[in-house]
Amino acid sequence: MLSVKFCPQCNSEDIQMVAGGITGTWTCKDCGYIGSIFPEKEIAGSEQKKETGKRIGERKK
Ligand SMILES: [Zn+2]
Repeated sequence: MLSVKFCPQCNSEDIQMVAGGITGTWTCKDCGYIGSIFPEKEIAGSEQKKETGKRIGERKK
């Protein structure tokens, strides 16, 4: 299961880890929120649906 951090202030997923700062500090690109605690939400992975092969190549003699 994949999870993604999102901004607790504006719910934006466009966040970025602060470089050179304390490990685990993140900032939101949208509202500028900075914090070490960002909630995570699970994102449903894209389900791979296999299409059943259609009957082709039926020959009529
Ligand atoms: Zn934000």
